[in-house]
Amino acid sequence: SFHKSKGQHILKNPLLVDSIVQKAGIKSTDVILEIGPGTGNLTKKLLEAGKEVIAVELDSRMVLELQRRFQGTPYSNRLKVIQGDVLKTELPRFDICVANIPYQISSPLTFKLLFHPTSFRCAVIMYQREFAMRLVAQPGDNLYCRLSVNTQLYARVSHLLKVGKNNFRPPPKVDSSVVRIEPRKPQPQVNKKEWDGFLRVCFIRKNKTLGAIFRQKSVVSMLEKNFKTLQAVLASLNGSTGEAAVMDVGDQSMGLEDDDNEMEDDDEDMEMEEGQGGGGGEFKEKVMNVLKEGGFEEKRSSKLSQQEFLYLLSLFNKSGIHFS
Ligand code: SAM
Repeated sequence: SFHKSKGQHILKNPLLVDSIVQKAGIKSTDVILEIGPGTGNLTKKLLEAGKEVIAVELDSRMVLELQRRFQGTPYSNRLKVIQGDVLKTELPRFDICVANIPYQISSPLTFKLLFHPTSFRCAVIMYQREFAMRLVAQPGDNLYCRLSVNTQLYARVSHLLKVGKNNFRPPPKVDSSVVRIEPRKPQPQVNKKEWDGFLRVCFIRKNKTLGAIFRQKSVVSMLEKNFKTLQAVLASLNGSTGEAAVMDVGDQSMGLEDDDNEMEDDDEDMEMEEGQGGGGGEFKEKVMNVLKEGGFEEKRSSKLSQQEFLYLLSLFNKSGIHFS
C-alpha cells in the first residue's frame, strides 16, 4: 500500500542499485546523504560503500521499516535517519548525495542542494527522464531551457544511466535517468535573484528574439521600476552625493530629474498612451541599446550559451538595469 502522492516507487533491481552506487564513486570515508530511502534497498549498498549514511524520509512507516531492517546489524550505528520533508529540513554536512527521489520535488530539491551552504563533491540522483534531459541539455538542444542554464551555472551535470520503468515497484508512468551533479568550485559570483530574474525574462519564450522579448511593455516597465527603485536607494544612501551615484550608473539621459516623483508618474502615463509596440520611450531605448551593444537583438535564448547569458547580464548591470 504505497502512497502515490509521496512518489513511492521502490527500486527492485539489485544490479541497477549496484550500478548506481558504483557510478557514484563513493569513498570509504564518505558521509552520504540519502533522500527518500524508502525500504532501504539503496541504503544498504550505501552503508557498505561509505562511512555513514544520513537518510531523510518523510513517511514514518518507511522510517520504522528502515530502522527495523538495520537493527542489530553492524550498519545500525552508521545510519542516521531523519524523519521529515527534505525540503523543510536543514541538511547536515555531507560529502556526496545519492538518491532515488520522488519526482514531484525534483526542481526544489535540486536547487536546495545547489545552494547548500557547505560544499560537497557531487550528487547522484534519479530523475524522471525528461527532467534529466533538461538538466543536461546544451544550447540548440530541444529541451534546452531555463532549468538547463540555471543549473549549469552552479554545477557540471552529466547523464549517467538510463533506467526503464520496470526497475521499480510499482512501476512509475515514465522512464528515469540517473544524473551526476557536481557543484562548480568556486561557485560563480552572481547574485542568485538577479540571475534568476534575468533568465525568467530571457526564457519568456525561448524561440523569440531577445529584441522582441525586451521590447514588451511588461518587461520594460518592470525593468524601469527596478531602475528607479535603485536610483532612489542610491540617492538616499549617498545623501548630498546622490548625484555621483546616479552618474556612476552611467546614463546621462536618465539624470537627476528622475528622482522627482512627479516626473516619474508623467513618464508612466506617457508609456501607457503609446499603445502597441509604438515607438520611443526613453527607457525602452536604453534597454534596446544594451541588446544592440552586445549584438543580442536578433539572438534567441534557445541557442545562447551560459557565457553569453552572463555577458548580457553584465551589460545590463553596467547600464544600471537590474532584474531583482
Ligand atoms: N529510495 C527508495 C528506493 O530506491 O527503493 C525509495 C524511493 S521512492 C521513489 C521515494 C521515497 O521518498 C519514498 O520512500 C517517499 O516516502 C520519500 N519521500 C517522498 N517525499 C519526500 C520528502 N518531501 N522528503 C523526504 N522523503 C520523501
